[in-house]
Amino acid sequence: MTMRVFERLVVGALQCNCYLVGDPVTLQGIVIDPGDDPDAILAAAERHGLSLVAAVATHAHFDHILAADAIRQRTGIPFYLHALDVPILALNQEAGRLFLGTDLPPSPEVDRTYAEGDELVAGSMRLGVIHTPGHSPGSVSLVAPDEAVFSGDTLFYASVGRTDLPGGDTAEELASIRERLFPLGDLPVFPGHGPPTTIGQEQVSNPFVGSGGGLWTP
Ligand SMILES: [Zn+2]
Ligand SMILES: [Zn+2]
Repeated sequence: MTMRVFERLVVGALQCNCYLVGDPVTLQGIVIDPGDDPDAILAAAERHGLSLVAAVATHAHFDHILAADAIRQRTGIPFYLHALDVPILALNQEAGRLFLGTDLPPSPEVDRTYAEGDELVAGSMRLGVIHTPGHSPGSVSLVAPDEAVFSGDTLFYASVGRTDLPGGDTAEELASIRERLFPLGDLPVFPGHGPPTTIGQEQVSNPFVGSGGGLWTP
């Protein structure tokens, strides 16, 4: 084991899964999807003895990034986002008013953009970046080889992410799932919302992409 999921925190009004992952030996870690409640995220990291090296978002929707600025300011760690989702940040104010009926804080500054093939390193943990567009243009999944995949809002337990938001594309999302995620093999999947699942389970029974729905062709 070169990585561990130290904690899943369910944060914010839309109940985003924020994951604290890292190297179980060196205790260097990464925050995936700091969606809200920076106090709780940083307190959990401290409780586990994790020394954070980066905060990353699977995509730019506000429910995945609201705590990013507070975390980068308090810890000095860089915040990563895919370049194709940087323009989506500008739409979050409107989305906040639409979904929450409230004004959101300003969008976080993006310290670094990441892209297909990049690798995030924390101790001996390596998270590969896979571009899985469809839910948003710059949606990514993060893969710890042979161990786990963090699928953002692309693939959920028995469901897939909505594609009716700006830049969404259903065909692209299904292709991302079938051509990029399913070939990873039967790994545990930690999605952006809801319970964990596995690639194998979703291949067989996901009603949107699984063979049970008649849509999936190997
Ligand atoms: Zn989303
Ligand atoms: Zn979300």
